[in-house]
Amino acid sequence: RAKTLGKGQYHVFDPTMHAAAMQALQLENDLRKAIQQKEFVVHYQPIISLCTGKINGFEALVRWQHPTRGIVPPALFIPLAEETGLINSIGKIVLSQACHQVQQWHQEKLIDESIFMSVNISAKQFAQLDIVEQIDQIMAETQINPQNLKLEITESAFINNAQSAKAILQELRQRRIQLSIDDFGTGYSSLSYLHNFPVDTLKIDQSFVSKLDGTLESLGLIPAIKKIAETMKMSVVAEGIETEKQLAQLRELKCEFGQGYLFAKPLPEKEATELLAASPKW
Ligand code: C2E
Ligand code: MG
Ligand code: MG
Ligand code: MG
Repeated sequence: RAKTLGKGQYHVFDPTMHAAAMQALQLENDLRKAIQQKEFVVHYQPIISLCTGKINGFEALVRWQHPTRGIVPPALFIPLAEETGLINSIGKIVLSQACHQVQQWHQEKLIDESIFMSVNISAKQFAQLDIVEQIDQIMAETQINPQNLKLEITESAFINNAQSAKAILQELRQRRIQLSIDDFGTGYSSLSYLHNFPVDTLKIDQSFVSKLDGTLESLGLIPAIKKIAETMKMSVVAEGIETEKQLAQLRELKCEFGQGYLFAKPLPEKEATELLAASPKW
């Protein structure tokens, strides 16, 4: 477990390391229990068409409702979940909940096939041998239209296992499930993989959007990302839009879609459903 404690902190008798290790162990035990006791909930953040203001889809974001700590955000447990392999179980739970939500909204006639549910799949989860079977099983169980489902993976999912990644993505493409590259531009950047994989959407990372202040210089890499997407016939979603100024700049660049606190935070099921019910229909 020393790996999690940062470089150069390998003093066996360091009491702070001992405390940190104990804490990580406690968290791991808690995570295992959380899986058994179904303490995970999924919140849904709308993804908006920047030119019409209509809802284009939702991103499913996991929350851990810890019995004593309250709501624990993913940043505090996803890294450990990845390290311990627990992400595979958690990921399955999230995918299942998100697909059941699509099924319910579809039955309530709140969505048609033009509205997608975007689900984060970690690199480790993506590398599981039976990932396609897992997805097939949930699709069969919920009977949702595959066009309602979009998977978000980061560049790292391609890098370490390009061959198997390609095979998996082709399987997904055959099923008409869509694919986004999350946090685009922040990872290992070899653009060549984009050419080889069937990708529908690039998500412009929040770190680029938060720099937008109305000036030309603040655009940074965004125009280049937009250009890549255009060339490859992919759409872009800008993440973390918080201000009108940022929105105006993104619109000027003809970024089609966005999500952020300016529109809505990730919402619990009930509030997301109310928002959909109150929105103009497709
Ligand atoms: P992400 O996939 O890039 O998700 C976007 C994050 O940005 C979410 O944080 C969202 O709440 C946050 N966000 C959205 N709009 C704004 C905004 O205007 N301002 C700010 N400051 N933040 C905004 P969240 O929910 O805490 O998730 C963090 C990360 O945890 C996600 O980043 C994703 O990498 C991971 N994650 C969340 N849910 C899952 C999951 O179900 N499975 C996996 N594997 N990873 C997940
Ligand atoms: Mg995401
Ligand atoms: Mg993202
Ligand atoms: Mg991000």
